[in-house]
Amino acid sequence: MPPVTLELQPLFTAVRQAAELCRRVQDAHLVSSDKEGQEPVTIADYGSQAIISRALRRAYPDDGILAEESGEQFVNLVPEDRRKTVVALLSDILGEAVRQTDVVAWLDHGQNRVTERLWVIDPIDGTKGFLALRSYVIAVGFMLNRQPVASVIGAPAHPSPGGMLFHSQSGVAYQQPLSGGLLKRIHVSERSEASGIRALESVEKSHTNHERMARVRAAAGLGDAALTRIDSMEKYARIAAGEAELYLRLPRLNSTRPFMIWDHAAGTALVQAAGGRVTDIDGSPLDFSEGRALRNKGIIVSNGRIHDRVIAAIGQVLTQEE
Ligand code: AMP
Ligand code: MG
Repeated sequence: MPPVTLELQPLFTAVRQAAELCRRVQDAHLVSSDKEGQEPVTIADYGSQAIISRALRRAYPDDGILAEESGEQFVNLVPEDRRKTVVALLSDILGEAVRQTDVVAWLDHGQNRVTERLWVIDPIDGTKGFLALRSYVIAVGFMLNRQPVASVIGAPAHPSPGGMLFHSQSGVAYQQPLSGGLLKRIHVSERSEASGIRALESVEKSHTNHERMARVRAAAGLGDAALTRIDSMEKYARIAAGEAELYLRLPRLNSTRPFMIWDHAAGTALVQAAGGRVTDIDGSPLDFSEGRALRNKGIIVSNGRIHDRVIAAIGQVLTQEE
């Protein structure tokens, strides 16, 4: 199949609009979560996905979409007053009269299609971070024959003023201020000396096992690495931009929860385009080939240079755990 060049401008606009919606929901203290018994989901998750799916429907009507939320969840789980709030926010931000039926149609658009071209949306990745006013991202990945090859990631809470917008395609990665401005090509860091390594991991203890990851860093000779905890795929963006060298994600020992494709597709495309490596814990590529979940044991994201020593260290730690 020939390489695909995507016009990503409609998605930059959509991700900026989605970020605006997320900020307004936070500013108006409208953040509360539903989807009981599972993961939190807020009205901003639905609003953000509606905006992005609407843009994809216009720009790429025949492509498939794999997205975290659905129209059915919106209608069945969100109380009517909050659905009305979403409709009002969307009307205001999009500058057109939006009805609830539009929102449902946008949320479901392109889902369950079997296509070579598949867009992967995580409308708010790091919802717990969003709820706690920490980091979160709006992530759109693009898979060709189930390989992540392009990405657009809006990071409204990135430390640069106003947040950052990351994107990649055709093996090249970029960042620019979320509010617009200078487009800059990004690359992973060239560091490989243990003394300079910066490591990232999730904030939430329920998502990963911090102790196992500390044991792996120690076994890799990276016990003194500067460690930062950040929510969401912003971790992938920090690796892609050369601001850290290692992002490790090891599940808790008793976890049966699979890794979801929308949590990793855009980040994987971004890091690979920036020259980094993303693999399972044994060094094999992540398998995005089927359904909504990956079938991996963990994730190593790195600048490439330190990857093999982390794989070896995980092997040692797993042996000790047996
Ligand atoms: P992070 O902030 O990097 O931990 O990633 C956020 C993502 O973690 C969310 O989008 C969820 O899909 C995922 N997540 C939520 N709950 C869990 C859990 N119990 N175990 C593993 N991952 C989770
Ligand atoms: Mg997510």
